[in-house]
Formats: sequence, C-alpha cells, structure tokens
Amino acid sequence: MLEVKGVTLKYGDFVAVDDLSFEVKPGEIFGLLGTNGAGKTTTFRTIMGLLYPSKGYVRYNGSFVSYETVDQIGYMIEERSLLTKMTVKDLMFYFGQLKNVSVEDILKRLDYWLERFNIKDYKNKKIKELSKGNQQKIQFISALINNPSLLVLDEPFSGLDVINIELFVEVIREFQAKGATIIFSSHQIDHVESFCERLVVLEKGKTVISGYIKDIKKDFKKHNIKVIADDLDKDALMKINGVEDVIIQSNEWIVKIASEDVSNDVFDYVKTLKNIRKFDVEQATLSEIFIAKVGKKYEEA
Ligand code: ATP
Repeated sequence: MLEVKGVTLKYGDFVAVDDLSFEVKPGEIFGLLGTNGAGKTTTFRTIMGLLYPSKGYVRYNGSFVSYETVDQIGYMIEERSLLTKMTVKDLMFYFGQLKNVSVEDILKRLDYWLERFNIKDYKNKKIKELSKGNQQKIQFISALINNPSLLVLDEPFSGLDVINIELFVEVIREFQAKGATIIFSSHQIDHVESFCERLVVLEKGKTVISGYIKDIKKDFKKHNIKVIADDLDKDALMKINGVEDVIIQSNEWIVKIASEDVSNDVFDYVKTLKNIRKFDVEQATLSEIFIAKVGKKYEEA
C-alpha cells in the first residue's frame, strides 16, 4: 500500500503541495488530477523520494521509498527525458540494470512490450528517430521493464491518440489485475472518470476534491438533463423551481438542475412538447464539480 500522509512540500517559501493525504491499495488505480501547476509532478517526486516534504511522509509497504525499494517501482516521468542518442535496446539495458533486472529478462520483456505496442522494428533505432507518441511508448516500457508492483505514471496519456490511450489503459489494467498499486496524473479530469474509482483533485497545491468518484457525485447532487424535442421554450423551463440554467449544446438542450428530483417537473414540461427524441438525466461531470468548487473552467485553467 502507498501512503501519503499530511505531505507539505515547499520550494523555498512557496508551498507547492499543502497537507496532502491519500492511500492507494494493491489492485487500485488512483488518479491525481489538477490544472497545470497544481502540484502533481511535485507529489510524484516526493513519492519517489526525490524531494523531501517539510511536513508529513510517504511510505510504500511501510517503508520510505529509497534505493532499496526502487526496484519494485516503475516511474514514468512527465518530461519525456529519454536519452535520445541511445538506441531503444541500450536504453532498456540502462534502465533495467539500474533496477537489477537480468540482461536475459530485459531482452525477453523488451521484445514482448515492443510487440505489444506495435513498434518491434524500433529496437535498434535511436530514440531521437522515433515519433513523440512512440517515444512515449518507450518511456512507458522503461517504467514496466522491472515488472513493478507500484506504478507511478505522470501524465501517461498526454499527447497520445485514442487508439494508443486504449492500449496504455489495457496494459495498466493488466497490472491492476496482477495486484499492482497504480497512481497516475492527468489534467483532463473527465477523461479519467471511467479509468479510476478514487481520486484527489489538487488546485494550487490544495486538495479541492477527494474520494470515490461515485460518492463525490452523489454528494454534489446537481444533475444535467439532456433533451431533444421540438419547440422547447427556455423561459418556461427556467420558471421551474430548481432549474438553474438551460443551454444549447450541439443539437441538444442541457437543463441544469439543483437535484435529481427536479427532473420530474422538467419531465412534466417536456411531455407537452412535440417530437421528443431524448430525455436523459445524468449526474454532473467532475469538471462541473471542479468549477463549482474552484470557480473556473478546469480544462482552460
Ligand atoms: P503540470 O500539469 O503543468 O505539469 P503540476 O501539477 O505537475 O503541473 P508541479 O510541476 O508540481 O505542477 O508544480 C507545482 C508548483 O510548483 C508550480 O507553481 C510550479 O511553478 C512550482 N515549481 C515546480 N518545480 C519547482 C522548482 N524546482 N522550483 C520552484 N518552483 C517549482
């Protein structure tokens, strides 16, 4: 289990992470989300023992992360700082041997992952000859080469196309199924909703949302109703008690309501319209919860 307890991390007088606490259990995928500069990378560096908190501590299976425990950890850093003049094979020897993996295992695992990520022809190519997405795959493989029980992934999906995101998700899920402890970061809050059950959202180093996504949404209460029907009158909807806003998005109306029970009154009105093609009541998105708590648009921040 990974424990982050009351961690405060300062750069000089600047507090980059303020009193952060969470735990990640084996077999769990945990999300650390936040806008640019929120403190995600700082948290990861602290988890990896590269920075020392001024308060609090980080432990993995009861021990501080150190030279002894690092063999069990796979860390994918955000800056894609691969040694670009090395070949893929030499780079894996370098990372693998740093983590005490035998040459035989490095080669076996490298062949397996190159095949899995559809880049087996790149084994003897220099890193700088690879596209950005393929360099990202190599960075991911370098985090997996020691078959880690703790995976620390800083922005693993940024810049990947949808097919490769799916491939990364599939591999991470396999590590989850084997009982690995997994923590990843992202600044795209709604994209990760289906990927993890529990998360922390940081804003300027402070925890603004934390816990199980299903509980966070349940506590928030607000819902959206998506409606497609003819001749919808926005003013008539706005008069209903509990309707907070009505906007049009693409070809459908989004009716924002204070709580789920308001949907009955909205439905009574929508029933009077012609050609009803859609009436869907959905929980608010995590981005909307973030905006409500922090007061600005998450993706733009
Ligand atoms: P991003 O999504 O942009 O990568 P992040 O959430 O990973 O952001 P951090 O890189 O952890 O954010 O930075 C948190 C804050 O700490 C930012 O305000 C950043 O400017 C500051 N910071 C990061 N590294 C240093 C450093 N070495 N010295 C001083 N301040 C730093």
